Amino acid sequence: MNCEECGMELTEENTYRRVMQGAEHYFCCSDCADSYQKGKGAN
Ligand SMILES: [Zn+2]
Repeated sequence: MNCEECGMELTEENTYRRVMQGAEHYFCCSDCADSYQKGKGAN
């Protein structure tokens, strides 16, 4: 599995999970989760 924002490979230790609109998304950190969320909203 990879970070949905930057593509970094995720391990059990660095996986950051966030639920958006009822769906789970996986990132390497909260920054990527924020960027992903902002990107979706802006476009
Ligand atoms: Zn990332």
